[in-house]
Amino acid sequence: MSKPKSQNIHWHHGDVSRADREKRAGHRGVTIWLTGLSGSGKSTIAHELDKRLLARGATTYVLDGDNVRFGLNKDLGFSPEDRTENIRRIGEVAKLFTDAGVIAITAFISPYRADRDRVRSIMNEGDFLEVHVDASLDVCESRDPKGLYKKARAGEIPEFTGISAPYEAPLNAEITVNTGEADLETCTNTIINYLETKGYLFDLPK
Ligand code: ADP
Repeated sequence: MSKPKSQNIHWHHGDVSRADREKRAGHRGVTIWLTGLSGSGKSTIAHELDKRLLARGATTYVLDGDNVRFGLNKDLGFSPEDRTENIRRIGEVAKLFTDAGVIAITAFISPYRADRDRVRSIMNEGDFLEVHVDASLDVCESRDPKGLYKKARAGEIPEFTGISAPYEAPLNAEITVNTGEADLETCTNTIINYLETKGYLFDLPK
């Protein structure tokens, strides 16, 4: 990671610790990083997780694909460099949420392994859970929820992941869900069960 441009800057440690925030929340802060092809189900799973965890009293927030491109990343496109910068910024934002004791759920294709690994590397051990939302290109293309594959096949969207740009599947994801084989509830349960088993939801009512 490159050094900050400014030199005379110092990290200020506040009086409220992360542990204080987590104790009040009843769960650890964590980033649940969903990665997968367009149409694999990242957004659907992210919002389902958000809903189910919030219903139990958790503090959650979804950072979703296109939404950040309207604001924070409005200056970025889909070239490899811009995709990398897109993920870098989202990683920094997710890190802030995690530090604030929030369960941050991110839903970005994030096609490059190196970009995801870089986000992992800025986080503390256990703060970054990579979830491979796995579905074959055929399944994703047959769903085509936003009509993007049709446009990409017609040559109207350049650099479209899976068609004319690469997707590098995770090698060591903490969790894999196959949305072509399991329904939404099962996929969401897999993620929540992981959080339960590993103690992330240490004081969250059932
Ligand atoms: P992405 O965010 O990865 O681009 P979306 O969540 O927008 O994908 O779209 C996925 C589509 O697949 C939705 O229409 C959703 O209803 C459908 N779908 C079918 N099975 C599943 C599943 N098990 N998990 C998530 N989505 C599923």
